[in-house]
Amino acid sequence: MALERNGAYSRAILAWQIETALKKPPKASPQGHDHNHCIEDAIAAAEKLCATKGLRFTPLRRRVLELVWSSHKPVGAYALLDELRNEELGSAPPTIYRALDFLIENGLIHRIERMNAFVGCSHPGENHRGFFLICGECGNAEELQSEGVADTIVASASRRGFVARDMTLEVTGTCADCRRSA
Ligand SMILES: [Zn+2]
Ligand SMILES: [Zn+2]
Ligand SMILES: [Zn+2]
Repeated sequence: MALERNGAYSRAILAWQIETALKKPPKASPQGHDHNHCIEDAIAAAEKLCATKGLRFTPLRRRVLELVWSSHKPVGAYALLDELRNEELGSAPPTIYRALDFLIENGLIHRIERMNAFVGCSHPGENHRGFFLICGECGNAEELQSEGVADTIVASASRRGFVARDMTLEVTGTCADCRRSA
C-alpha cells in the first residue's frame, strides 16, 4: 500500500527532523519561503516589543527565541537545553525555563500542549485568539487568527458561568504540502 509506505517514510523523516531541527535553518523550507526572513522578522519584532514595553531582551532570551524559530516545527525544552548546553549564556535549566516563560508571557512564542513544545508566534504584539494547524506528517505548526472561533468559545464558556482566560486551540491533520507530496 502506498499509504503505508508513505507513513513509514514520514516516520523516518520525522526522526531525522527531530535530530536536525536545531541545526542551522535551511535556506528554504518545504513551503519554499526564505526562513531566514522569518527568524529576522521574529527577532526584530521582539526587539521592538521589548523596547516599547521597557523589557530587557537579554542575549539568552534572544538566543532561545532564535532556537524556537529554527523552523516552523514546535521545539521541546530538552532539545533547547541540549542546544544551549555548549553555549556560554547561562544555560542552566531554570534559566532557560525562565527565558521561555518570558517569551510566552510577552506573546513571542506559544506552547503547544499536545507536543509539550514551543513555537514562535507569527504575529507578536497582536492579540492571540487564534488556533494552530499542526501537521502530523511534517510537524509544522501554522498559527491562524480567528476572532469568531474564540468568541464562540468564550460565549459558550460564559453561559456555563466560566470565565475563559487563555486558550490555545490545536488542530491536527495534514498540511497542503504534505498532501501534495503524498
Ligand atoms: Zn519560515
Ligand atoms: Zn501568536
Ligand atoms: Zn505537513
